Amino acid sequence: MATVVKCPVCKKRLMDMLSAKEAEVQVKCPKCRKVINVSFLNNEVHGEAV
Ligand SMILES: [Zn+2]
Repeated sequence: MATVVKCPVCKKRLMDMLSAKEAEVQVKCPKCRKVINVSFLNNEVHGEAV
């Protein structure tokens, strides 16, 4: 089961996460070009524009 990570600003799909216990990544949205801070904790995802 994959968790789809979406941009919180424009809702573009950023990545599919298969599993993560604990992680924090920053990605740049290709659509709105915002830097999104994505944090995972026990397979739950939280995205936030920086
Ligand atoms: Zn975006």
